[in-house]
Amino acid sequence: MDCLFCRIVSGEIPATLVRETDTTLAFRDIMPKAVSHILVIPKEHYADVATLAQADAKLASDVLETVAIVAEHEGLVADGFRVIFNTGEYAGQEVSHVHAHVLGGEPLGPMLAT
Ligand code: AMP
Ligand code: ZN
Repeated sequence: MDCLFCRIVSGEIPATLVRETDTTLAFRDIMPKAVSHILVIPKEHYADVATLAQADAKLASDVLETVAIVAEHEGLVADGFRVIFNTGEYAGQEVSHVHAHVLGGEPLGPMLAT
């Protein structure tokens, strides 16, 4: 399977890593939409958050724990931050390897463009 984020996990494609655990990886988004914009993924491939949550609740929890730790290390907790899992076509998911967008460091505006 040709998956961009699996290739980042394997080291084949470089990324700016923020945190690595046995089961998860956090790295900076290549086109940041906020001052802080980090992607958190499970190392194992699942297409989206719904698939992951139903297949492996512990791994889904690991992803959320890494989200929380990264937000803390980036200094996002006091002022708040946003976590987004784009899922499927209507949400505009471009990479079919589940990823949490962690966004913050400035006011983020309304949740959805209107
Ligand atoms: P989504 O639209 O939710 O699938 O988000 C995919 C995200 O991956 C986008 O925000 C892209 O900017 C980001 N992205 C694409 N290629 C890379 C890469 N090589 N390294 C880091 N982030 C990437
Ligand atoms: Zn993958």
